[in-house]
Amino acid sequence: MHEFGVTKSLVDLCNQEAKKNRIEKVHKIHLRVGRFTGFSPDSIQFYFEHLKVNTRCSAAYIVFEEVPIKILCNDCQKISEIEEPVLLCPNCGSDEIDLISGREFSVTSIEGE
Ligand SMILES: [Zn+2]
Repeated sequence: MHEFGVTKSLVDLCNQEAKKNRIEKVHKIHLRVGRFTGFSPDSIQFYFEHLKVNTRCSAAYIVFEEVPIKILCNDCQKISEIEEPVLLCPNCGSDEIDLISGREFSVTSIEGE
Protein backbone atom coordinates (compact mmCIF):
# COMPACT_ATOMS: atom_id res chain seq x y z
CA MET A 1 0.00 0.00 0.00
CA HIS A 2 2.92 2.40 0.42
CA GLU A 3 2.84 2.99 -3.33
CA PHE A 4 -0.23 5.20 -2.84
CA GLY A 5 1.79 7.89 -1.05
CA VAL A 6 4.66 7.92 -3.51
CA THR A 7 2.31 7.94 -6.48
CA LYS A 8 0.44 10.89 -4.98
CA SER A 9 3.76 12.75 -4.61
CA LEU A 10 4.66 11.75 -8.15
CA VAL A 11 1.45 13.21 -9.58
CA ASP A 12 1.90 16.42 -7.55
CA LEU A 13 5.49 16.77 -8.70
CA CYS A 14 4.62 16.20 -12.36
CA ASN A 15 1.81 18.72 -12.21
CA GLN A 16 4.14 21.31 -10.68
CA GLU A 17 6.80 20.62 -13.29
CA ALA A 18 4.22 20.76 -16.08
CA LYS A 19 2.96 24.10 -14.80
CA LYS A 20 6.48 25.47 -14.54
CA ASN A 21 7.27 24.37 -18.09
CA ARG A 22 3.88 25.49 -19.45
CA ILE A 23 2.84 21.99 -20.39
CA GLU A 24 -0.94 21.73 -20.46
CA LYS A 25 -1.11 18.06 -21.17
CA VAL A 26 1.51 15.60 -20.02
CA HIS A 27 1.91 12.60 -22.31
CA LYS A 28 4.78 10.66 -20.83
CA ILE A 29 6.52 10.51 -17.50
CA HIS A 30 9.91 8.83 -17.31
CA LEU A 31 10.37 7.38 -13.88
CA ARG A 32 13.43 5.66 -12.45
CA VAL A 33 12.62 3.14 -9.77
CA GLY A 34 15.34 1.31 -7.90
CA ARG A 35 14.52 -2.29 -6.99
CA PHE A 36 15.68 -1.70 -3.43
CA THR A 37 12.76 0.68 -2.85
CA GLY A 38 10.42 -2.30 -3.05
CA PHE A 39 7.95 -0.21 -5.06
CA SER A 40 6.04 -2.22 -7.58
CA PRO A 41 5.60 -0.54 -10.99
CA ASP A 42 2.24 -2.31 -11.31
CA SER A 43 0.97 -0.75 -8.09
CA ILE A 44 2.28 2.68 -9.02
CA GLN A 45 0.57 2.36 -12.39
CA PHE A 46 -2.64 1.30 -10.69
CA TYR A 47 -2.77 4.27 -8.30
CA PHE A 48 -1.63 6.61 -11.04
CA GLU A 49 -4.71 5.77 -13.12
CA HIS A 50 -6.89 7.07 -10.25
CA LEU A 51 -4.77 9.99 -9.09
CA LYS A 52 -4.12 11.51 -12.51
CA VAL A 53 -7.82 12.21 -13.17
CA ASN A 54 -8.56 15.94 -13.61
CA THR A 55 -4.92 16.93 -13.52
CA ARG A 56 -2.45 17.92 -16.24
CA CYS A 57 -1.40 14.27 -16.19
CA SER A 58 -4.85 12.89 -17.03
CA ALA A 59 -3.69 11.61 -20.44
CA ALA A 60 -0.21 10.61 -19.36
CA TYR A 61 1.40 7.24 -18.94
CA ILE A 62 4.49 6.24 -17.03
CA VAL A 63 7.58 4.79 -18.66
CA PHE A 64 9.38 2.84 -15.97
CA GLU A 65 13.10 2.48 -15.87
CA GLU A 66 13.90 -0.11 -13.26
CA VAL A 67 17.31 0.18 -11.65
CA PRO A 68 18.90 -3.05 -10.40
CA ILE A 69 20.39 -3.36 -6.95
CA LYS A 70 24.18 -3.10 -7.10
CA ILE A 71 26.48 -3.56 -4.18
CA LEU A 72 30.18 -3.04 -3.63
CA CYS A 73 31.91 -5.45 -1.29
CA ASN A 74 34.47 -3.78 0.97
CA ASP A 75 36.21 -7.08 1.61
CA CYS A 76 36.78 -8.45 -1.90
CA GLN A 77 36.08 -5.15 -3.76
CA LYS A 78 33.73 -6.92 -6.16
CA ILE A 79 30.67 -5.13 -7.52
CA SER A 80 27.65 -7.40 -7.79
CA GLU A 81 24.14 -7.04 -9.06
CA ILE A 82 21.70 -8.79 -6.75
CA GLU A 83 18.07 -9.75 -7.23
CA GLU A 84 16.88 -9.70 -3.64
CA PRO A 85 17.59 -6.93 -1.16
CA VAL A 86 19.76 -9.28 0.88
CA LEU A 87 22.85 -7.30 1.59
CA LEU A 88 25.54 -9.94 1.45
CA CYS A 89 28.33 -10.22 -1.07
CA PRO A 90 27.51 -13.14 -3.40
CA ASN A 91 31.23 -13.56 -4.04
CA CYS A 92 32.63 -13.93 -0.52
CA GLY A 93 29.60 -13.75 1.78
CA SER A 94 30.75 -10.57 3.54
CA ASP A 95 28.21 -8.10 4.89
CA GLU A 96 30.66 -5.21 4.65
CA ILE A 97 28.97 -3.83 1.59
CA ASP A 98 27.85 -0.50 0.20
CA LEU A 99 24.73 -0.05 -1.81
CA ILE A 100 25.69 1.57 -5.11
CA SER A 101 22.32 1.65 -6.79
CA GLY A 102 18.76 0.52 -6.21
CA ARG A 103 17.40 3.34 -4.02
CA GLU A 104 16.43 5.59 -6.93
CA PHE A 105 12.98 7.05 -7.15
CA SER A 106 12.96 10.03 -9.46
CA VAL A 107 11.30 11.55 -12.47
CA THR A 108 13.96 11.90 -15.16
CA SER A 109 11.76 13.76 -17.62
CA ILE A 110 8.22 14.58 -18.59
CA GLU A 111 6.94 15.06 -22.09
CA GLY A 112 3.87 16.88 -23.22
CA GLU A 113 2.52 19.94 -24.94
ZN1 LIG B 1 32.92 -9.88 -1.23
